[in-house]
Amino acid sequence: MTDSNHTNSDKTDKHKQRMQKLKDKVDSRIDSATDERGLLIVITGNGKGKSTSGFGTVARAVGHGLNAAVAQFIKGTWACGERQLLENAGVKFSVMGTGFTWNTQDKEKDIAAAKKVWQKCKTLLSDNSLDLVLLDEMTYMLSYKYLDLDDVIETLNNRPKHQHVIITGRACHRSIIEIADTVSEVQSIKHAFDNGIKAQKGIDW
Ligand code: ATP
Ligand code: MG
Repeated sequence: MTDSNHTNSDKTDKHKQRMQKLKDKVDSRIDSATDERGLLIVITGNGKGKSTSGFGTVARAVGHGLNAAVAQFIKGTWACGERQLLENAGVKFSVMGTGFTWNTQDKEKDIAAAKKVWQKCKTLLSDNSLDLVLLDEMTYMLSYKYLDLDDVIETLNNRPKHQHVIITGRACHRSIIEIADTVSEVQSIKHAFDNGIKAQKGIDW
């Protein structure tokens, strides 16, 4: 056997040992994670991928036969593709009726619309038959103080024990982050729009 063969087999052994150690660590963490309950998940940050992550999880849950509902706090100009697909799969949507967008013209009207959707959300968040509720773009309703923070926190805390909730949107309020179980921040490294590329059907809505 040559020296280089020796070195290679040493490397393979070391790699095997390292991987075994890693596997033991992961296995022991999996064994100790025994709690099972509804999660509060927040997907925030400035990068693209928050709503698509939320809808992806709804699709994942529905694929397992779970019941899900979606509330959308900002209605885009175009009907999003997920809505058309998921409604056909039995997912109920509650959408902010005013067509609230970034260039809001009538604050009072937007507040009333936000409150109306929130009332619907409260029904969803007390519905035992729902396994997952997606509150898409809800963070803005708290940044703009359109909804009462204490009411939102109390409602989230009192939801059915098994119910998962996903909140999406930029700049999530720290009090919501505090009570959440899983929080991810999507960071923007670049976005096509910055190079003058317009929003694309099937990708952006
Ligand atoms: P998506 O729905 O694609 O997952 P998102 O929910 O993370 O996006 P939003 O802030 O809700 O992002 O914005 C929705 C729209 O704005 C989408 O068309 C998305 O492509 C676009 N967008 C998201 N992030 C950026 C960004 N950093 N710069 C420009 N446009 C963006
Ligand atoms: Mg979004």
